[in-house]
Amino acid sequence: MALTITDECINCDVCAPVCPNQAITMGPQIYEIDPQRCTECVGHFEEPQCVQLCPVACIPLHPQWVESQESLWQKYHRLQLAPVTATTPPLLPPRPCGAPLLAKEGS
Ligand code: SF4
Ligand code: SF4
Repeated sequence: MALTITDECINCDVCAPVCPNQAITMGPQIYEIDPQRCTECVGHFEEPQCVQLCPVACIPLHPQWVESQESLWQKYHRLQLAPVTATTPPLLPPRPCGAPLLAKEGS
């Protein structure tokens, strides 16, 4: 099963950076999990990382997204082969082309 985020989410932003599949993004009101990308962390970790860290325990199993362990592994392998799309959040904030890595002294 994929996981889902309930409306008890307090938008603390703890879960999104730890998701190994970039499945968690900010929605119109609260954070959301893309069930097409959530493998319950299968292939990466023993336990779902978002569930481990969520301070308000608002990430249950998605009741309408029933999947076997085998399906989760298939999804994991599919995601490894899939190219990163424009909607996938970048791991690091973009740096303007040509911008210096460090500010010059006195500037
Ligand atoms: S269970 Fe794992 S893969 Fe699914 S949303 Fe949480 S961190 Fe991401
Ligand atoms: S960790 Fe929990 S409360 Fe924080 S943004 Fe994620 S789902 Fe919401």
